[in-house]
Amino acid sequence: MPNCPKCDKPVYFAERKTSLGKDWHSFCLKCEKCNKTLTPGSHSEHQSKPYCTTPCYGALFGPGGYGRGGTESFTYKK
Ligand SMILES: [Zn+2]
Ligand SMILES: [Zn+2]
Repeated sequence: MPNCPKCDKPVYFAERKTSLGKDWHSFCLKCEKCNKTLTPGSHSEHQSKPYCTTPCYGALFGPGGYGRGGTESFTYKK
């Protein structure tokens, strides 16, 4: 039984949402900033935490979806 990365409790199949390679309770997959409920596969992620792509991720981590000066800036140059 996987544990939810948000609340650290077991996630049962019926209430599971898989996103970012982890299993979440449907009510735990929310934007870290605005608490909006997110849809698996159509949201952003920063340091393993879910964010809505607009406006929160763009506002927090820069336009274009990739942070200015964050670790992501370096990965695509390899
Ligand atoms: Zn949870
Ligand atoms: Zn948000």
